[in-house]
Amino acid sequence: MPTDQPFEPDQLDQEAHARQILDDRASAEKLAAGGDARGPQGIERAVRDILMEIGEDPEREGLVRTPERMHRMWIELTCGYHVDPDRLINGAVFDVGYSEMVVIKGIPFYSLCEHHMLPFFGTASVGYLPRGRVIGLSKIPRVVEMYARRLQVQERLTQQIADFLQGRLNPYGVGVVIEAQHLCLAMRGVQKGGATMVTSSVLGTFRTTKGTRDEFMAHLDRATPRV
Ligand SMILES: [Zn+2]
Repeated sequence: MPTDQPFEPDQLDQEAHARQILDDRASAEKLAAGGDARGPQGIERAVRDILMEIGEDPEREGLVRTPERMHRMWIELTCGYHVDPDRLINGAVFDVGYSEMVVIKGIPFYSLCEHHMLPFFGTASVGYLPRGRVIGLSKIPRVVEMYARRLQVQERLTQQIADFLQGRLNPYGVGVVIEAQHLCLAMRGVQKGGATMVTSSVLGTFRTTKGTRDEFMAHLDRATPRV
């Protein structure tokens, strides 16, 4: 059982992963097609309104299909709302006697800040101390993605990942650290480009026991071993 492996995309079952994203998107699209108060074309209409409001011509060649593209894009970027968590971890939680810390670090993610709907992105690192149950390694990035593909604030994203693993695995403790850059900071206002925001959530023994927390943080500080 690897305990300190960096996240490597080739460790994932890429095909199942891609299939899952398509499934999530399909159920999101079904919902969108059902329409809201503005009808099924609500996003297109809203994008057209924005284009006109900023003084653009929504009919010019480069923009004419933009509302439709944005509709599809928004469904994809927010498909985390429609992920079924039971299905996500289905068959991937195992009873084992392993009781050392499991750490998976450097999981890349892309999310959208709920205040400006601009991207924030970076990496998430997750550790937990199993109490007889572990989750398949490839599922942790999927949990991160389920919460990242929504409108978020980084603090809540961090907390939700920790709460989910605590609730599903009942480990002795969980730690999540997220480092991210926010385009709403970099592109507008004070333009603090390049600043990284770090958030953490520690539960159970990761909160109460300094030794456990230190062990987790030491894993995160350690340079990724080359293989
Ligand atoms: Zn923002």
